[in-house]
Amino acid sequence: MTRLPYGSPTTPLPDEVDVAVVGGGIMGLATAYHLARTSYLRITVVEGAYLAAGASGRNGGGVRMQWSDPNNVRLMMESLRICRGLTQELGINLWFRRGGYLFLARTPAQADQLERNAAMHRELGADTRLLSPTAARAIVPELDVTGVVLASYNPHDAVVFPWPFLWGYAARATAMGVAIRTHTKVTRIEPETATYRLHLSDGTALRTDTVILAMGAYGHDLNRGLGIDLPNRPHRHEILSTAPLKPLFDPLVVDLSTGLYASQSLRGEVVAGVTLGAPDLDAPPEPIDTTSSLGFLERIGAALVRVFPRLGPVSVLRQWAGPYDFSPDGDPIVGPSPGHPKVIQMCGFTGHGFMMAPAVSRLVARFVAHGIGDPLLDRWSPGRFAGKPPARPREVMIIG
Ligand SMILES: Cc1cc2nc3c(=O)[nH]c(=O)nc-3n(C[C@H](O)[C@H](O)[C@H](O)COP(=O)(O)OP(=O)(O)OC[C@H]3O[C@@H](n4cnc5c(N)ncnc54)[C@H](O)[C@@H]3O)c2cc1C
Repeated sequence: MTRLPYGSPTTPLPDEVDVAVVGGGIMGLATAYHLARTSYLRITVVEGAYLAAGASGRNGGGVRMQWSDPNNVRLMMESLRICRGLTQELGINLWFRRGGYLFLARTPAQADQLERNAAMHRELGADTRLLSPTAARAIVPELDVTGVVLASYNPHDAVVFPWPFLWGYAARATAMGVAIRTHTKVTRIEPETATYRLHLSDGTALRTDTVILAMGAYGHDLNRGLGIDLPNRPHRHEILSTAPLKPLFDPLVVDLSTGLYASQSLRGEVVAGVTLGAPDLDAPPEPIDTTSSLGFLERIGAALVRVFPRLGPVSVLRQWAGPYDFSPDGDPIVGPSPGHPKVIQMCGFTGHGFMMAPAVSRLVARFVAHGIGDPLLDRWSPGRFAGKPPARPREVMIIG
């Protein structure tokens, strides 16, 4: 039977596999691809809707190495290195555009943070430069730098178009024998003696040795069914794109005071988002909300025009939302689950799972296929929350 390159609702599934990946977002697909590349394991991906249905099909595509935490800087240097060769590796145009990221600081505390970050980045070999407001304008002449005290710029940061990223991983995984079934939910995971039985919404079941839960913000119900209680919480994050404009700016611009981020796509649309609030991390998870709000439009309109006054009269073409998957200490939640070492979690990526996926999926595939660990996986262990209140985020920049 011919297999569709990106998976389909009719992909035949075997009764038994070695690894079942739940969730066909960037994490699940990239991990399935690396597992297939580096092992002879029998692998299936089960996606409840279509491949870009979750946060992976709704994000801003920002990929940066400018972080406050050295582990994240190293990880993202590796992710960006992988991204540079990924169009060739996956055989699909990712619209990978290296225009850099430009952070704008308006307060002494923000400027201080950028200075400390840039010094640490340089020690790690990342080419982050501190710029005066005037120098920032030399890179983005459209900027209004009134009130800006310092900027930081890394020309190697980038933006991608998320969908081909997913399709590329899916197509290559399929070509290597991974069965990708879409529009089929995993409704329950039943532990057996040494395996797990995944009950599917089409009434069938699938037995597997290892389960990878790559469900982003959607994983609570399946986890609870296994007695696993994780502290990540979904939070609606809204974003928009404008009518196409002539090329106005290259870097993705971040205003640290408002949380605004804005980039211009290769087709000319300005794609911009802003973080509004945070979930109550002490409350039970709320249902996922992907509605759009007028409040967001008002807030982002003001934030965008403050930075780019010329965008005042521009029409908004599309506004949408997706789930951020907040982790209480700002670190992702990745690795074997407490009490279920063969249930591997990949969640809690807040607003930056897309950019981390190229590197993280390799680490997880290596661990699952060959048992090779990594200090990052130790640090991100789902078991780290057991018995203690989670620390608050170390990263100051939780943005796209
Ligand atoms: C608006 C927005 C902007 C963002 N901007 C950026 C950015 O610029 N850069 C960046 O790096 N990150 C960004 N992010 C974050 C990033 O998109 C996510 O961290 C990342 O996509 C998470 O990928 P995932 O595969 O873990 O989850 P998802 O993409 O959410 O995939 C989970 C999948 O699981 C499926 N699923 C759910 N329940 C079931 C079930 N029972 N059975 C089977 N399948 C199921 C869902 O349908 C979904 O497809 C943004 C997020 C949003 C919402």
